[in-house]
Amino acid sequence: MIDNYLLYLSYIENKLKKFFEAQSPYIFCKKGCALCCQSGEYPFSQIEFDFLMFGFSKLDENLKQQIFGKVNKLLEEKSKTEGTFLHECPFLINNECSVYNYRGVICRSFGLMSIRQNANSKIPFCAFKGLNYSNVLDPETRIISLEKFKALGVDKEPLAYNVGYNALTSPDIEEVFNIKFGEVKALIDWFQKSEKSN
Ligand code: SF4
Ligand code: SF4
Repeated sequence: MIDNYLLYLSYIENKLKKFFEAQSPYIFCKKGCALCCQSGEYPFSQIEFDFLMFGFSKLDENLKQQIFGKVNKLLEEKSKTEGTFLHECPFLINNECSVYNYRGVICRSFGLMSIRQNANSKIPFCAFKGLNYSNVLDPETRIISLEKFKALGVDKEPLAYNVGYNALTSPDIEEVFNIKFGEVKALIDWFQKSEKSN
């Protein structure tokens, strides 16, 4: 299964790399920018979480303790919160992902504009913070502005891709790569389960 999952990861990495390249005039991601890891729920399937923890097992003890300290603090905060619990990812250390090569699918696609069925494309939230797609965003209508695109004078159009979490982890993908994503939960809830079962 792990070999098939690695094959799948290399497939989506190649695919996403091409999309990011095609959108380069609108992409402002750079090392140290971690807004997308600072507030979210981070959906992880079983296979992604297992792979993430495999990466975690390779970290040095100090880092592991630091991450577990953050996890425990988040679990405590979550227990006192009603509804959606948005938080910084506990694997974010000094504004960098401590398990970068083992990160989840959602982490790999974030920053691109994605196609939403029967609705306008989903623009990454960082567009509203002056980052990706902000140079073609109309802040009032909250959609991509044709005028701003024309004014840029670039030949690569701002495009949305089928890169939503469900599309990247669909049953078709499972069949092609002979993998099972398994149950999907918010990242912090995976730790909740292991705490209860201990
Ligand atoms: S997706 Fe947005 S927030 Fe995340 S690294 Fe790129 S520019 Fe920064
Ligand atoms: S696993 Fe890494 S890339 Fe994904 S949200 Fe956490 S810190 Fe960010």
